[in-house]
Amino acid sequence: MKIYHICEICQQVFDASEVDGYEGTVEMQGICHECSVEMGFAEVPITGLRPYYH
Ligand SMILES: [Zn+2]
Repeated sequence: MKIYHICEICQQVFDASEVDGYEGTVEMQGICHECSVEMGFAEVPITGLRPYYH
């Protein structure tokens, strides 16, 4: 089974993974890295935006 991770903001497939033992494809909604960065949900802290290090 192929799992397509589709960004719910830009509607692009940003990741795909395969699972053995199942047939078909599945679409999963998510947020790609670029959109998460734009929205401020980035996993990696953005340089210059560190409110805890003042
Ligand atoms: Zn996106």
